[in-house]
Amino acid sequence: MPAVVNEAECTGCKSCEETCPTSAIAVNEASIAKVKDEECIDCNACADACSSQAITMG
Ligand code: SF4
Ligand code: SF4
Repeated sequence: MPAVVNEAECTGCKSCEETCPTSAIAVNEASIAKVKDEECIDCNACADACSSQAITMG
């Protein structure tokens, strides 16, 4: 299942965006990380990189 962002916990730090091997996650203009489900390969790298624990694997 693709990564899921808990938007209330996301600080917009971009660690996930910089870590994702497929560019499936990116911080939007509202400083919230958004996942393109169809591009996510479920690798967990973004969740590991998120110091706010804002990402879980759905
Ligand atoms: S690493 Fe976590 S806190 Fe930082 S932008 Fe991504 S989801 Fe948000
Ligand atoms: S689980 Fe992997 S592929 Fe999916 S958004 Fe996170 S880093 Fe990218």
